[in-house]
Amino acid sequence: MTFPHLNNIAFSVEKQSSITIAKATFPLRYGTYSEIRTSEYEFIFNLNGEIKFIRGLNVNWPHPAAQLKRTDGNDWVYYSVGDVSGDSGIISWMGEYYLPCLPYPSNSVWEVNYFTNPSIMNAFAAWSQLYADLYGAQGAGLHPKANELISRILQNHDGVLYERSQKLNTIIGERVTVLPPDTRHVDYEIIPVIIADGCLYHCDFCCVKSARNFHKRSRSEIMSQIQQLKVHYGRNVQNLNALFLGNHDALAAGDELIYFTASEAFKSFYFGNARAVPSLFLFGSVDSLLNSKDELFEKLSQLPYYTYINIGFESVDASTLNLIQKPVDVSKVRAAFHKMLEINDSYMNIEITGNFLVGEQLSSEHYQSLAKLLQDTSSPSSGRGAVYLSPLKDSPKKRELLPRFFEIKNQSKLPVYIYLIQRL
Ligand code: SF4
Repeated sequence: MTFPHLNNIAFSVEKQSSITIAKATFPLRYGTYSEIRTSEYEFIFNLNGEIKFIRGLNVNWPHPAAQLKRTDGNDWVYYSVGDVSGDSGIISWMGEYYLPCLPYPSNSVWEVNYFTNPSIMNAFAAWSQLYADLYGAQGAGLHPKANELISRILQNHDGVLYERSQKLNTIIGERVTVLPPDTRHVDYEIIPVIIADGCLYHCDFCCVKSARNFHKRSRSEIMSQIQQLKVHYGRNVQNLNALFLGNHDALAAGDELIYFTASEAFKSFYFGNARAVPSLFLFGSVDSLLNSKDELFEKLSQLPYYTYINIGFESVDASTLNLIQKPVDVSKVRAAFHKMLEINDSYMNIEITGNFLVGEQLSSEHYQSLAKLLQDTSSPSSGRGAVYLSPLKDSPKKRELLPRFFEIKNQSKLPVYIYLIQRL
């Protein structure tokens, strides 16, 4: 329902789009949301009245398709479309038409510090101004539905949004410091449920590792998370159609706990009501993949999800594994890589992807062995599977690594993309 302009503000109280997130050169909206437009900005709110996106409509805004997105962790991420459009632009290395520019240090190959751009920062001033205008407009002869929307938005001021992000961490017991790269397919919009803490290794290079040893959570702890998350996400749960089982190696938690959690979440978060197949994301490791028996994949394939499992391989060069202090040997990495290919060819609704490192510090042996591995692989007949190249965190950030990336991509039989480490 759209209301006429009131003091240059237009309200769309509830707009509906497909819940499936399409890849497009222009930001397409998804799910059910509210929109407020001024002459200079478009503001998008979720069903709880929480601000989600701001897009500039004025001439100073960097690009009509660029926008700011607020995550459930309360980070404002700027979605840049880069400086080259079409298939040779960001899509060729991210697999998406935009580059998320993060407000915290990460491993980006191209760091865009949006804080220094007044044209972008003015959007935050406009958001504050809109909030003040809505505060003043309450009850001012508006349609009751517009008043309801205003009231929901006013309840979710910046302080509340911050508190809600902290509450989310309290419910799941820790912050999700890194999301699997495959979550790009759902614009990183996932519900997190932690089924295990810590990981099997404590690799030296890793900037997201936890100090804890691997430890599964109990079914009652998991059920408590799911129940609290259902309340936390409130009405907006209907816009979410993806589950992340955390944290760093949920695959090592085993088939029973994965199956139990995914099934309970499916019911509690009403994934069955969505018109699209929900996605399930989890991380695995070389050892957890090798130790996973056929029963695990059979069980996963029976779940009503499309499942993505992302494995950290890092390198097929022994001296590089030694350098980064990853306690696995090359033969295991190769065996896990081939198991990934086998699983991808065997199950229609399971896709395993893998990560390898890139960085100026890494040796030519690392790159040669990686290129050979990806070259000697047969192209997947199923179309499933991809490799992500993850820059080491202190790599240069002005696209110096891209030529190296394209060199590997061009030799690979599998699709290759850059992995940008993003937190929830
Ligand atoms: S790379 Fe993965 S396995 Fe290694 S420390 Fe980090 S989270 Fe753990």
